[in-house]
Amino acid sequence: MKTLNVAQAFAVAVLLMLTAAISCPAETQAGPLPKVKILAMGGTIAGVASTPTETKDYKPGSLDIASIIRSVPGLERLAEISGEQVANVDSSHMTDELMLKLARRINELLATGTVDGIVVTHGTDTLEETAYFLNLTVKNLKPVVVTGSMRPSTAISADGPLNLYNAVVLAADKRSRGRGVLVTLNETVHSARYVTKTNTTSVDTFRSPDLGCLGYVLDGTPYFYQTITKRHTASSEFDASSLASLPRVDIIYGHAQGSRTLVDAAVAAGLKGIIIAGAGNGGIFPKEKEALIEAAKKGIVVVRASRTGSGVVTQSREYASYGFVTSNNLNPQKARILLMLALTKTTQRKEVQRMFDEY
Ligand code: ASP
Repeated sequence: MKTLNVAQAFAVAVLLMLTAAISCPAETQAGPLPKVKILAMGGTIAGVASTPTETKDYKPGSLDIASIIRSVPGLERLAEISGEQVANVDSSHMTDELMLKLARRINELLATGTVDGIVVTHGTDTLEETAYFLNLTVKNLKPVVVTGSMRPSTAISADGPLNLYNAVVLAADKRSRGRGVLVTLNETVHSARYVTKTNTTSVDTFRSPDLGCLGYVLDGTPYFYQTITKRHTASSEFDASSLASLPRVDIIYGHAQGSRTLVDAAVAAGLKGIIIAGAGNGGIFPKEKEALIEAAKKGIVVVRASRTGSGVVTQSREYASYGFVTSNNLNPQKARILLMLALTKTTQRKEVQRMFDEY
């Protein structure tokens, strides 16, 4: 067999390398990369513990967004990434003002046309509330994806890096457009309208009761199986752009032997709305009901949700006669978000009920 000289061997090697590059689609990109902005709010994804085996005792909101981005291999092949620190808090410290600030920033960024998709990193404890708020206040069809993690960045088997990678996959992909705000953790994709945290510590904690997830993200590819039918984002009537605060709405948790104490305190505190997390199909203990009827007569909007975790709260002749609204199938914490936004527009019960049925 004829042996190759040095120049011939070099030419063959270059040819082989070029062929390999062309036949490896994962490494090549057609056209410029999409631009994805990551807005960081804190949480466990930015959490640090003192040892890798401490997965529950740690300080959330410790790392900045630049270090989080650096810890995820391969992001640079998915999108042109930039990061911005909006807050760095444990999400149990989230406020209405921070949600408003985040919604305003997302609307600003998407309106410039220089960003193709947004990722929000957020603590998981109240992630569903912020995600639903954004679902109602972001005025754009471009992808907005919220993610977080259950284990701190320092943990053995930290889940943050893959969750962030998958969030960027979704935010950079045109197939995510127009689906409302998405939430991804643990390789699943959920609608912000339905998703809720269901387990205190498991990485498999985000679920959409009754309806299931919208799809999955696996090895850099989104798989969608469902679309949401409720109004959201570009078709929402709510506008957060000029609001400095939101009308105060609190949740009261119903239980056997309920009393009027908390309802009376809510009225005295000047609340504009009350979500009652009722038993079963939104049932309320008689003494508590009495206080809520009085509150409704004073103009406070009362919404019956359920503490069961799934299902629709249906209207009844009795509750309708008191002017109580039902949350449809929103859980109490999401019902609070919608009622605050509804109250920026109206206090008419019929209108508020329409909103609960449409969003
Ligand atoms: N306490 C944390 C938070 O919500 C939990 C988490 O992010 O997983 O900020």
